[in-house]
Amino acid sequence: MTCIHEIAYESLPMRVRLRDGALADLPDELAYLGLSRPLILSTPGQAHLAHRVEQLLDGNAAGVFTEARMHVPVEIAERAVKLAQQVGADSYLAVGGGSTIGLGKAIALKSPLPIIAVPTTYAGSEMTPIWGLTEDGRKRTGRDRRVLPRSVVYDPQLTTDLPTDISVTSGLNAIAHAVEALYAPDASPIISLMAGRGIALFASTLPALVKSPSDADARRSALEAAWLCGACLGATTMGLHHKLCHVLGGTFDLPHAATHAAVLPYVAQFNLPWAPDAEQVVAHALKASDAATALFDLTSELGAPQNLAELGITLSDVDTIVTEVLAVPYANPRPVDETNLRELVESAINGRRPNP
Ligand code: NAD
Repeated sequence: MTCIHEIAYESLPMRVRLRDGALADLPDELAYLGLSRPLILSTPGQAHLAHRVEQLLDGNAAGVFTEARMHVPVEIAERAVKLAQQVGADSYLAVGGGSTIGLGKAIALKSPLPIIAVPTTYAGSEMTPIWGLTEDGRKRTGRDRRVLPRSVVYDPQLTTDLPTDISVTSGLNAIAHAVEALYAPDASPIISLMAGRGIALFASTLPALVKSPSDADARRSALEAAWLCGACLGATTMGLHHKLCHVLGGTFDLPHAATHAAVLPYVAQFNLPWAPDAEQVVAHALKASDAATALFDLTSELGAPQNLAELGITLSDVDTIVTEVLAVPYANPRPVDETNLRELVESAINGRRPNP
């Protein structure tokens, strides 16, 4: 392991609770934070959960808004802001995956109030100050401390009905946060420890969840891993992998988590030889001698998409992808140019197992 010459690290101020049945702690958590009238948010598919929380708060919820959608369309955020103001909400209580927590952040950006997040996937948005908003087909993202949740309540029991395919891709999405945090320009020893444990936990829990989706121990460990990997995303600057997935999601409308799953082994093969310390942490976490191959084998074992062709991308899309990825500079351990990026995108479409 090489000696670190320079560290700049700032911890993010937030509270985390994790236990089976932690949903029941919400009234206490709100009281601790001095909040009493949250607007509860969910997707339409998780409206039953939003109403369960409303009952739990025993008449104290300001309202329930169940229209959260992937990538936060601006008109939905505007409707939620209007409702929050009409009902006199003093906070936003987001119950669901990255889409619901993303709605909480988007409305907090327009009308700042504290957010309490109850995550039910492994995407990790609850641990970051990153917001996203889609207007006229274009998704804008940014960082703003006002959208960082004040408190996160992880209840593994809420994830037992998370479908296996979403569990898997969402977990691989989280692993991608940890991998890129390890070679980020603002990487730090604390974040590397979190990344290593997060990846190792997912490497053991995701196969267990595929075999037995209601395995309580695996669900609990997977949420712990989601917390750690989400914290990695919140604390560091992401590189080529996240840039590529952003372009693929935005321009080709690919599903967020599945795209991360399909791309990760190829970017790992591209970048990790240029970041030997990161490569060592990932390989150790996966109990393997070669990190990129081990990531490919993990996606294969889990039945996740293994290449971009499976998601409908063809070689005729390469020019567009390369042009868009190169349009804005971003941090990356390996210098990226048109030639090596083209090779990377083609290999991610063709989907051959990386060579150790
Ligand atoms: P999601 O929130 O879109 O959820 C996917 C589907 O699963 C939804 O229909 C949801 O209702 C359902 N679902 C969620 N939890 C469930 C459960 N326990 N049981 C049954 N169904 C459940 O998916 P996601 O992958 O969590 O989030 C993706 C979005 O989050 C993207 O828009 C992405 O850009 C964003 N994101 C943002 C950040 C950030 O830091 N800002 C980080 C990661 C992801």
